[in-house]
Amino acid sequence: MPDRSAKTDSGVLHFVRYTCAMRALGFFAAMLGIGSALVGQDAAAPVLLLLAFTCLGWPVLAWRLSTQSSDPLRAEFRNLTIDTGLAGFWIAMAQFDLLPSALLVAIMAMDRTVAGGWSLTRRSMGVMALVALATAALNGFGFQPRTQFTTMLWCMPFLLCYLLAVGASTRMFADKVRAQKRALEHGSRIDAQTGLATRPQWLALVMAELRRFHRYGAVSSLLMVDIDRFKRINDGAGHLAGDQVIHQVCAILRENLRSADTAGRYGGDEFGVLLPGTGREAALEAAERLRRAVSSRVAVGGVPVTLSIGVAELAPGMEAIEDWTGAADEALYRAKGDGRDCVRA
Ligand code: GH3
Ligand code: MG
Repeated sequence: MPDRSAKTDSGVLHFVRYTCAMRALGFFAAMLGIGSALVGQDAAAPVLLLLAFTCLGWPVLAWRLSTQSSDPLRAEFRNLTIDTGLAGFWIAMAQFDLLPSALLVAIMAMDRTVAGGWSLTRRSMGVMALVALATAALNGFGFQPRTQFTTMLWCMPFLLCYLLAVGASTRMFADKVRAQKRALEHGSRIDAQTGLATRPQWLALVMAELRRFHRYGAVSSLLMVDIDRFKRINDGAGHLAGDQVIHQVCAILRENLRSADTAGRYGGDEFGVLLPGTGREAALEAAERLRRAVSSRVAVGGVPVTLSIGVAELAPGMEAIEDWTGAADEALYRAKGDGRDCVRA
């Protein structure tokens, strides 16, 4: 079965490009080893010509078949099976000369396992065995497994260059996967639009603070911050202006926090701020400072943008995270109910 990780268009193209490059390198290197074995067995010139023709021509044809196909991935997996058929043919033609044959079998099996897993390997190796058997039958079951020293030398490029290329590409692939993993982890922790913590990441920090409180009694407060009448800004000035407001509010939020504080995006225009080591009074002051900073610095069409903020200090009755965030939310609703643009605890 095709490797599902290579499903996206660029992923498929990358996969096809990689396998085609490795095929060209592999067939060229294999040509030297098999060619040397054939020369040692006094093979006829047309056989050597056919070897050169397959090893140099097939990779080009395979590339065209894959890239011009409407389903390049399927075409490439078919090519991978054809590769093994050709390898089986030349193994039998070289009368099973041990070193080039063993190298071909081992490398073909390794590549197919990497590209398509066991099912592709089984299928390809079956094709290779059948073709080798049929060719051997036509060839009078010629069997000369002893490898001459010259052939051993001609097998070295296959052994060294190909394996080196496999190692280098595996390394490159691993680096890419690591970078993607880092980006994914970053994306799950940081909200791309605002640069603040994502809601799950922020709640995890709130949870940790709650545990610290229950273990050590560490004082802490939460702010729930919501932009007032944000829908009106969107409707009146457009979504881009709305986005710009969110951006400005978040910048002010970050500016006003200490390094121990964490702001997170709780919802569309709602933000949570965790203030560890901060009691109710200090949290109210911080909230007030934030509210004033936004209303004096952010405006849309000359109308100041205002915030409503709910403050909740962590208290002994709060066992679950929802008890704490709920208390801050309740205070926020009170601020909204009291006409907005204010702080309530
Ligand atoms: P209130 O004062 O009661 O909070 O009124 P409001 O209009 O702000 O009401 P509410 O908080 O429910 O509205 C939030 C709106 O914010 C709804 C949603 O369409 C919009 N919104 C959410 N995320 C984004 C965003 O990233 N960009 C923009 N432009 N708008 C957003
Ligand atoms: Mg709002």
